[in-house]
Amino acid sequence: MTTCSRCQRNLFAEKPVHLPDSRDYCAACCESMATDSFEMETGERFTQWIEKHPRLVMRYQPMELSVRRLSFFFPLAAAVGGIAVFGIGCVKYIVAGLPLLYLALGVTAILILAALILTYPKASARLGGGFGLLALKLFVTGLSLAAPIVALLGMIRFGRPVGFIVLGLSSILLFGWLASRGLVAFMRAQNFELTLEDGVFHLTHGPRAETFGMDDVERACVVRPGTIGATEGALGLKNGLMLTLDTCLSDLHALGVVMDLHFNREFPPSAEDLARVRRDKLRKIRGLS
Ligand SMILES: [Zn+2]
Repeated sequence: MTTCSRCQRNLFAEKPVHLPDSRDYCAACCESMATDSFEMETGERFTQWIEKHPRLVMRYQPMELSVRRLSFFFPLAAAVGGIAVFGIGCVKYIVAGLPLLYLALGVTAILILAALILTYPKASARLGGGFGLLALKLFVTGLSLAAPIVALLGMIRFGRPVGFIVLGLSSILLFGWLASRGLVAFMRAQNFELTLEDGVFHLTHGPRAETFGMDDVERACVVRPGTIGATEGALGLKNGLMLTLDTCLSDLHALGVVMDLHFNREFPPSAEDLARVRRDKLRKIRGLS
């Protein structure tokens, strides 16, 4: 006889729900964990939906991939444009016979500032407070306040070439940074697939392929897909590795329900809890909170 893996009820008269983690649950546990948002998203109750999907497939959709591709190529084009503007500025500056020392010092200062800002989180963690961190903070703040003033004074004193140089250099740095972030996000999403079937995860990412069982997973947190600004899911493995999944993965919401059932031992939410969740959702939809 089958018992529900969560509430330990004997399931004589009802059909157990077999989930992709290879455990059986009662329909009440599944539905209470899935709540209404699952039905709102798929148009079906969780128990009906999961019956048709014994294998969960998490992968990035073509639309998501094109958005990521664009958010790499667009800043890249802007950064290349910045190189051209910077080059023109430098040539005009040198042709006009303006002081090279100011140019060299200015460019170096901006590059140092950009490098400091990029490495700031790591550096501040390493310094861990105290005098070193204070000195670094003062230096970065001072440099970022001084840089625009010096650039402005340069533009007033030496005119258009400095304007080109400042504009070019800032677009190289800003859009170059955005492009590098875009490239990382695109590489993460390309050729990625995570599946769960019969309690076994298969992970394919580019040429890499790995398999791990449900027992290797120690912690799991999956936010409902589409939640803005959140890493959508994370699986913590026993060997300390953390697999994070971000945005637009189909079947991820169902994986969230399965993992919640698997790891959250506490009793399913009561009818009152569910009613409160429903009220909160309605309030959000109406824009009251
Ligand atoms: Zn149950």
